[in-house]
Amino acid sequence: MLGVRCSTRVCYVVRCVTMTSPYFMPSRSGISPPGDQDAVCGPAASLRSKLTNNRRNVEPDSSGAVKEVKEEQEEARISEQRPSSAPLSPGGCHPKTEADTLPLSSQSRRRRQLKVEYEEDEGVPAVKTELWEPPDWKKQLGYIREMRSGRDAPVDKMGAEKCYDTEAPAHVRRFQVLVSLMLSSQTKDQVTAAAMQKLRAHGCTVEKILTTDDETLGKLIYPVGFWRTKVKYLKLTSALLQKEFGGDVPDSVEGLVRLPGVGPKMAHLAMDIAWDQVSGIGVDTHVHRISNRLGWLKKPTKTPEETRRALEEWLPRDLWSEINWLLVGFGQQVCLPVNPLCSACLNQHSCPSAHKPSPPKRPKAGPPRSPKPEPKQEVAVKQERTKKEPRPTPVSPAAQRRRPRSLKS
Ligand code: SF4
Repeated sequence: MLGVRCSTRVCYVVRCVTMTSPYFMPSRSGISPPGDQDAVCGPAASLRSKLTNNRRNVEPDSSGAVKEVKEEQEEARISEQRPSSAPLSPGGCHPKTEADTLPLSSQSRRRRQLKVEYEEDEGVPAVKTELWEPPDWKKQLGYIREMRSGRDAPVDKMGAEKCYDTEAPAHVRRFQVLVSLMLSSQTKDQVTAAAMQKLRAHGCTVEKILTTDDETLGKLIYPVGFWRTKVKYLKLTSALLQKEFGGDVPDSVEGLVRLPGVGPKMAHLAMDIAWDQVSGIGVDTHVHRISNRLGWLKKPTKTPEETRRALEEWLPRDLWSEINWLLVGFGQQVCLPVNPLCSACLNQHSCPSAHKPSPPKRPKAGPPRSPKPEPKQEVAVKQERTKKEPRPTPVSPAAQRRRPRSLKS
């Protein structure tokens, strides 16, 4: 049996060896599971499997037996490589392919010509890394900086950063920043600054606000816009600060927007001024209007909060703090809400809204007509609009004409 070398007789030899040789494992019986290639792919593969198994089981000192197994293994390898003239066994596996019938030299050539190509993953969309940004924003921002270089807009002298007592303890300074921001809503900086001066002289601390009656507080902050509502909010906010924040201003946007009368714009500005942390862009009516006029938003927005989100998508974060100060002053001096001074603006050649007529003035608010839900602050302010409110002394037309209408160099 050991003398057998003919490859065509390997199957027969293997069956004999399986039955008799001590070097072989007992053959498996029953139906081979699908996918068991050794069981279904013909005698050569079956032999290879058995040889492999037996090589593991063979005694280390039986060198003659090992040699015999190696020789048979070699036989099996050669029989696999040779083009077989014999047909596949009835239980053979796959039909012969073109490659099976080619001589070895041709197969080698064919293998060398194989080109490996990887399928594109069509299910996963390509990740877009490019972010949208307005085409001329850097140049326009540079011009706005130039126009604001005088730092002579009302916000520069009377903004929330200028309204607190610099000698007061840190938590009191933070509270005063918050109060000035609350008063500044729908109110000119000059009016806010005057109210803050009176309030500070009275005592602008959480404790003092809580012990001051509503009427006195109203007189102190009058004539800021919606002063009645603001009196209410000041009281509620002071109470919440004392109860939940140890008398200090919260150091997070989430905490700040919990305070009555404080929305996202105020919260981001308070974080910036009181805590020196940039959490978002403070978008007021000026920032909202100018961003839309300059085309700094992918599509026009309707509310300051929408504008904030759209700006934050593309504007580099290191400009978030500066942009509020720049645009508020620019809106107070040049890009006015009505009749902007486009002929004095350095951006008139790139601004899509330059020299366009102002939109018609909004009609004065009457009783609420829309059933749509609104933010809590706006609801309260609208309710107050319907009440009769004492007005500040009107500015005479002559005084209005004296107002500077062009940039100072
Ligand atoms: S050109 Fe006119 S609308 Fe445009 S930014 Fe300047 S002032 Fe505003």
